[in-house]
Amino acid sequence: MRSLSWKLGGALLLIVIVSVGLMAYLTNLSTTREFTQYVLSGNMMYLQRVDDVLGQVYSRTGNWANIQSTLAELLRSGSDRLIVADAGGIIVGDTANDWLGKTAQGVSLGNGTPILVSGKEVGQLYLLSSATGMGRGHMGGRTVTAVPPPGITGEQDFLNQVNRSLWTTGLIAAAVALLVGLLLNRQFTRPLHALTRGASQIAKGNLAYRVKVGSKDELGTLAQSFNAMAESLDSSEQARRRLLADITHELRTPLTVIEGTVNGIIDGVFKPDRDHLGSIKEETALLTRLIGDLRDLSQAESGQLKLELAPSNVADLVRRKLSQTELAAREKDIRLKLDAREVPDIMVDPSRLEQVIANLLTNAIRHTPSGGSITVAIDPIAADSRHQVDRPSLLISVADTGEGIPPEHLPHIFERFYRVETSRSRSEGGAGLGLAIVKQMVQAHGGKVWVESEPGKGSIFYVALPL
Ligand code: ADP
Repeated sequence: MRSLSWKLGGALLLIVIVSVGLMAYLTNLSTTREFTQYVLSGNMMYLQRVDDVLGQVYSRTGNWANIQSTLAELLRSGSDRLIVADAGGIIVGDTANDWLGKTAQGVSLGNGTPILVSGKEVGQLYLLSSATGMGRGHMGGRTVTAVPPPGITGEQDFLNQVNRSLWTTGLIAAAVALLVGLLLNRQFTRPLHALTRGASQIAKGNLAYRVKVGSKDELGTLAQSFNAMAESLDSSEQARRRLLADITHELRTPLTVIEGTVNGIIDGVFKPDRDHLGSIKEETALLTRLIGDLRDLSQAESGQLKLELAPSNVADLVRRKLSQTELAAREKDIRLKLDAREVPDIMVDPSRLEQVIANLLTNAIRHTPSGGSITVAIDPIAADSRHQVDRPSLLISVADTGEGIPPEHLPHIFERFYRVETSRSRSEGGAGLGLAIVKQMVQAHGGKVWVESEPGKGSIFYVALPL
């Protein structure tokens, strides 16, 4: 499987092998070069010193008679071999005692370092050392002759040791890098697996599933966003179910009344008279209103509500609506008042704003007892941070002296199908959509709506529309 772990692991392994191998190769190369250089220059200094001592010995004795013991004292290490040939090329000193009496040419020593006494060459000095590697090397005009020694010498040993350390270090580095890589791999793939599991759970419809990722990196953020997405899916699914249940519930009541009345008429239990047909008509009108309200709401919520904006005088509009409500108010012995200043025309959709005012007035009349009063006021206001009105607006308030709304219900009354006293409101015909529509219409105009209420004293609904 070409999984992410294999790709990551492979890439890491490749990087480790290439970088460690390259490092080992280059270090090895430069160590060998530097080390050879170091040994060669050491040899040069050593030869110079031996040469000087031998010159002094010769000038003291005038011959090479006791040179063997001097050479043995001058020998630097067991891997070196010092050889001295006299002016005639006959080997007179050899720390290995091997070539004494032979000619330098005879053992193919070639040119050595001349030993000078008062400017005259009295012999040649040879150093056979393993450190220069194989063959001959030229250094600063002198020739140092080296013959490959049998077996591994100290210098070679040193280089091998350096190589071994390099490879050991490289292997340890590779092992550590691989271990870190594996851990990193797990860090990456674990949250990804969790997210994949989460996505398939959500796809299966388990919207309550949440991903558990503790890390605070990008994957952690991704998991948080995933959970936020699941949360919002879950809540909109719940809202959809609630809405469906509410709609079904609201439709069932008028339909039951209509069905019962029609069945009664068919069975001859009821006469098809004005009363029974009137009740069917009333329930049908209720259904039509409910469906109209639902259509408006869903259009507004999905942003598809088309406003037909026109410069309108809100005071005139309110006045018109008040006079249409006059009759219903008089029936309940409720006084209607308008408190409107001279206000400028503003851009609104008049029919939608009428719907807003009508809903607020209907509610106020419904919840105000006989003898009460309803006052509508219209005022231009500046921006008001307390109610989050961020620009100069026209404030319409509908105040009643009714029963008020208990504080625990206040945050919810603008929600769809929310009713404070379910049974009583239902008998009065409210489906709990009126204020939800008010809110959506006002928001579509770029305005705000809020309420202040004190149980037993009354409520004031505010609508702020941008000027
Ligand atoms: P409904 O169709 O039930 O009136 P609304 O959305 O218009 O639905 O109102 C929601 C709830 O808010 C109502 O059930 C009612 O209890 C409460 N309410 C609305 N207006 C007033 C008011 N003026 N006075 C008291 N309560 C009110």
